[in-house]
Amino acid sequence: MTSVKVAVRVRPLNNREHDLDCKFIIQMDGKKTTIVNPKVSDHATEGDVGREGMRLKEFTFDFSFWSVEKLDSKYVSQQQTGSGKTYSMMGNPGDEGLIPRICKELFSNMTDQTTSYRTEVSYLEIYNEKVRDLLKHHPHNKPVHNLRVREHPKQGPYVQDLSKYIVNNFEDIEELMHRGNAVRTTASTNMNDAKFTEDMPCEMSSKIHLVDLAGSERADASGATGQRLKEGASINKSLVTLGTVISVLAEISEKSRHGRNVFIPYRDSVLTWLLKDSLGGNSRTIMVATISPADVNYGETLSTLRYANRAK
Ligand code: ADP
Ligand code: MG
Repeated sequence: MTSVKVAVRVRPLNNREHDLDCKFIIQMDGKKTTIVNPKVSDHATEGDVGREGMRLKEFTFDFSFWSVEKLDSKYVSQQQTGSGKTYSMMGNPGDEGLIPRICKELFSNMTDQTTSYRTEVSYLEIYNEKVRDLLKHHPHNKPVHNLRVREHPKQGPYVQDLSKYIVNNFEDIEELMHRGNAVRTTASTNMNDAKFTEDMPCEMSSKIHLVDLAGSERADASGATGQRLKEGASINKSLVTLGTVISVLAEISEKSRHGRNVFIPYRDSVLTWLLKDSLGGNSRTIMVATISPADVNYGETLSTLRYANRAK
């Protein structure tokens, strides 16, 4: 059983953070990421044993990415709380995200003349613990929602009646992604799961899940009410369950390779149930935690780093 690899990526300041004249509280050095508590002064006086411990928290991840000076503009506009999850998955034309990079790489490796390749794509969204097919529409352009998750004894969990499209190159995928994005839930806290299946009959079949998670913002901190509160609660449930599943898996692989019959609560959320094979079993997983560099987000960022730290 492999443990999850964890990366952390810090984005540039956004407009709001810039206007507030925010200080940078993140430092990266190799695999080390350090966060500075802006409320604890760095003027340590003699006898202040432990102050550094209160002021600095240090984490080690498999990869750390400092993408602060990358763009022409020094800071980014739009969303206030967005830490860069969707951006890291999608990117933009000058700075491609993980989805285009991984898909292009996939096709560039399918060159063996003696093999025939078949690649299928599905695109779904989990919203309030319900599964929606983003590529199959009812009349009036409403996505097909509330699909059932089932579990095949050999092939594992799957979404019943989820549509699949055969693709031959990245452009085909891009077109499907645009189509799906247009019907994605418009709330800023949405959660997607793009699923690509590379299916090679008789020889080998592999699957890749590319997941864009919803915010880790605590429901209480975002001041959400009504519908948004409900969204927040199901998003949190998925994130909490994902965190628990990943940390149980990390513990098992650390303590023993036998992994006896430890209970792993995959089925506590739709997300972890669908990702069961990707998280456990014979697969490789990488989690990218994205963070803001600004002092105003200290609490949020520290909780993201702690969450990511549990997964190692
Ligand atoms: P999230 O999905 O975590 O809510 P987004 O990915 O939507 O956040 O990012 C919020 C804003 O910040 C967007 O305008 C996005 O383009 C910008 N952004 C995020 N990360 C980066 C980055 N690494 N470089 C440049 N811009 C970024
Ligand atoms: Mg997003």
